[in-house]
Amino acid sequence: MKPARSLLFTLTLWYTVILGAIVILSGLFLYHTFRNNRMEALDRTLKQVVVDLRETWLRSRTLGWNEVIRAVRDRNQNHQPQVMVIHYPDPHEADLHERPTVFTSAPGLEGSFLLADEIYDRVQRSPRDEPTYITQVLAGGPSHGFRLILFPMRGNYMIQVGISLEQLADNLRQLFLIMLMAGASLLVLASVGGGYLIRRALKPVKNILRAAQSISAFDLSLRIPADGRSDEIGELVATFNGMIARLEQSVQRIRQFTGDVSHELRTPLTIIRGEIEIALRKERDKREYTEILRSLLDETGHLEAIINDLLFLSKLEEQVKPRPEQRVMLDEILLEVFEKRLHTARVKQLTFSLGEVQRAEIPGDAVLLERLIGNLVDNAIRYSPAGASVVVSLIRSGEEIMLAVRDTGIGIPLASRQFLFDRFYVVDKSRSRETGGAGLGLAIAKQVADFHQARIDVESTPGQGSTFTVRFPAG
Ligand code: ADP
Repeated sequence: MKPARSLLFTLTLWYTVILGAIVILSGLFLYHTFRNNRMEALDRTLKQVVVDLRETWLRSRTLGWNEVIRAVRDRNQNHQPQVMVIHYPDPHEADLHERPTVFTSAPGLEGSFLLADEIYDRVQRSPRDEPTYITQVLAGGPSHGFRLILFPMRGNYMIQVGISLEQLADNLRQLFLIMLMAGASLLVLASVGGGYLIRRALKPVKNILRAAQSISAFDLSLRIPADGRSDEIGELVATFNGMIARLEQSVQRIRQFTGDVSHELRTPLTIIRGEIEIALRKERDKREYTEILRSLLDETGHLEAIINDLLFLSKLEEQVKPRPEQRVMLDEILLEVFEKRLHTARVKQLTFSLGEVQRAEIPGDAVLLERLIGNLVDNAIRYSPAGASVVVSLIRSGEEIMLAVRDTGIGIPLASRQFLFDRFYVVDKSRSRETGGAGLGLAIAKQVADFHQARIDVESTPGQGSTFTVRFPAG
């Protein structure tokens, strides 16, 4: 199944959007910094021209304003300033209707270079020796206007110098175009490059996906190649492979278990069927029928025992651990089991005795514990010949309570010990059939021990006997 929107697309999109935002913000910042710097430089130039103008005027008493203006303009030719000096008539002496005199750097400029009267009024009122800077578009002047400096001077003079903003606007337009082109190419290159890198980074994910799709419950043997990676992808591959390995084991175990169960159930069923067939072959007397029926009863009993054990195990698997308030006296359960087996042990001519049995209370389930101890004791009795001894003990030592079932029976071969607690495992098939075990007793014992957070172990010497111990945590 293909995702509606691939990770590659989403990542590339986000990457480009974020990069685009960064490019635009940096562009804006650059543009404004450049513009402000140029404006400040322009203002400094304007002030220099004003200072030059004032100083030239004050120094040379013989020159008129027109000459001063020309000299200053010549000196600052590279900036091409427009210079104008307005001389207002003295309000005390002059006739009220007298117009101010205007001196300019270019004849005929005054018409378009003059500002509104209220601007001059405002500047006149501003503190002396403080220039005022304004940006103004003048009728008939350049479309981007002028940057102007206005400086009122003693003697009723107003100095006005302006530099056209045309050049600056041109530079800014060029800068904008360069930035636009550079930004766009950067964005295109970065998104193509980023897309390529993201695609490369995601490639192993695609491989994982493909491998995962080809793994099914029928073929769990497949593993994803890690290619020696030690990064997150490598970790993901290792985790995934580990999970598949565990799944494979579980499926294997389930298959094995199903096979074992079928096999175990089939054997008694075959026997039952065989016996019935033989019985039906000819007419038999009552004694024979009774015998056959008793044998059939034995076999069905065996079947029932297996099914009960399996049910018991599957129910046990659903539980995790005993409730803490569920406390039981382990020694009492042990004594009860002991008493119930006394008769069987006597019949088998075994020395069946209690070792040291200390009082021990643990959180646990009495029914399950009785089953655990019962299974161990039953095995000890079952696998010990006449004359052997079986001793049961319960000792508290430090942090644990140790239950031990020791026998001097036939013992268990070393090679069998690791499988002893597996379901349906029996050391000697022919012997187990004779004694009635299907190999579930120790599997149940182990499960009950696990349920109680206890550890079950076995020590054995073939021909000399075995000791099963269960160590419960005290508490
Ligand atoms: P079973 O029902 O066949 O006894 P268990 O799971 O209880 O199955 O035991 C598995 C196998 O372990 C038995 O078939 C038996 O061979 C061996 N075994 C268990 N306990 C003892 C023991 N005390 N002495 C010798 N062999 C034992």
